[in-house]
Amino acid sequence: MKPVERERLDADVLIVGAGPAGLACALRLAQLIETNRDAAAAAGLSAENIYVLEKAREVGAHQLSGAILDPRALRELLPEFEQTAVAGVSDTPVSEDAVYFLTERRAWKFPVTPPPLRNHGHYVVSLNRLAKWLAERVEQAGINLFTQFAGAELIWNHTGIAGVLTEDKGLDKNGRPKPNYTPGYELRARVTVLAEGPRGSLTKTLVQRYGLDGVNPQVYGLGIKELWEVPAGRIRPGFVAHTMGWPLGTRLYGGGWIYGLQQNRVSLGLVVALEYPDPQFDPHAAFQKFKTHPFVRRLLEGGRLVRYGAKTLPYGGWYSMPRPYVDGGLIIGDSASLLNAQRLKGIHIGMKSGMLAAETIFEALCAGDTSAKALSVFQKKIEQSWIREELWPVRNFHQAFHGGLWSGLLHSALQMLTGGRGLRDPWRTRPGHEAYHRLDGQRSPTARFKGDGRLTFDRLTDVYHSGTRHEEDQPCHLIVADLNLCGTRCTIEYGNPCEYFCPAAVYEMTKERGERRLKINASNCVHCKTCDIMDPYEIITWVPPEGGGGPNYEGM
Ligand code: SF4
Repeated sequence: MKPVERERLDADVLIVGAGPAGLACALRLAQLIETNRDAAAAAGLSAENIYVLEKAREVGAHQLSGAILDPRALRELLPEFEQTAVAGVSDTPVSEDAVYFLTERRAWKFPVTPPPLRNHGHYVVSLNRLAKWLAERVEQAGINLFTQFAGAELIWNHTGIAGVLTEDKGLDKNGRPKPNYTPGYELRARVTVLAEGPRGSLTKTLVQRYGLDGVNPQVYGLGIKELWEVPAGRIRPGFVAHTMGWPLGTRLYGGGWIYGLQQNRVSLGLVVALEYPDPQFDPHAAFQKFKTHPFVRRLLEGGRLVRYGAKTLPYGGWYSMPRPYVDGGLIIGDSASLLNAQRLKGIHIGMKSGMLAAETIFEALCAGDTSAKALSVFQKKIEQSWIREELWPVRNFHQAFHGGLWSGLLHSALQMLTGGRGLRDPWRTRPGHEAYHRLDGQRSPTARFKGDGRLTFDRLTDVYHSGTRHEEDQPCHLIVADLNLCGTRCTIEYGNPCEYFCPAAVYEMTKERGERRLKINASNCVHCKTCDIMDPYEIITWVPPEGGGGPNYEGM
């Protein structure tokens, strides 16, 4: 086959992913160039030579979170933000915190909100709007931001990375060029920053190739969220509630959230740790059940669903942090495990990591040395910053809940008293899919959740509300290495968990000539990455589809 001729572009810095971490990195770099003009000029650095790639059709379209913003990093990045821009990024300041334990019929309010879940001084935000607002500032600073382009492959140099190839556009489902075919670009950079969010496809390849894993493998949670509009007076803007217990019980790690927004809107969702034993557990159905609890139902009845989304988050914390530097490359934000599972917050840590990465890169480029040794300063900066102060004391937090809620609360109290040490340090963990119990033929086909169409919904109705759109005639972006295994071993051993864990009904087992076959409805995919994490044989690989495809989390 004739080799593809690609246009080559050379940048000083290439940032893959325009989430809060990537955008904070870009903006901090622009600030450093502006305030250190002579040094920047001597090193030949300019804002125009910084590129940011975003796979969504517009910045923010793939950004999903609860979300409560601790403004610490944003205040450092843009000190004027609270005086001039709160309205641009925040929906409302948090006015009231509460934590509830749910049984099937009752909701017990904790007399005191545990300190990690107190949110005084924080803001309920739309991450979609926050990303857009930051992106405007990035573009005003002269940085080139390209939407609808994904980093499809890393460009390797002998000991690190040298940029990315963007995806080819205009291929049909068999991989043949259509009339609108355009080969991807070869984007080379002195430093490439991976800010892809949780389970980034390039980050995964990089970590595997160079064995960058931390003390523990990464473990994840899946967050499923709906945005509702409810009758006036149901909920105060700024009211923040977290729940534990029903419908997950006390064995599964996770819980719900309910946040009151302006204009009678409510953000609510359920996060489930992706390390549950039952391969036929259905996180989407669990979330729908959550809404039928009298405490939640009272709030939503008479309202309407506005948006839906699902996304994974890294739970592993400090001990799951991969080595975040290689020759010519850095890993930041969720891709680098920078989230505080105890506080259920990662936006501020992701942003701070982007800012520290920018400072590292600026120094490295000025010194003309972007080797792993020079970029290892990034890890030192993390260790000397408030990121470590925040994450080190909770380094064993998530692992403490392996034995269920009650033992987890006990262990985490002990950890708080011992600076995070607890009874075991480091507390080891294993990849989430290894938690599955084998069914060995004892599969019990369960009726799929349908919903009543008013309060609860099936997955396809929810996908419709995610605004998801993909070009239909393109190669499948969900690569299953061995399709034969799906209808044979997987059916017997695990009952095809992909039919249950995917919150967008992408995977469907069908019968063809008496044989069970996997059908992949790839255009439903909301890019949550659960399949890449929870397939029991690790044969599903999520790769970016043609740029611009995916959900549209407007206002989420
Ligand atoms: Fe998530 Fe995978 Fe389903 Fe896409 S196919 S929505 S990434 S589980």
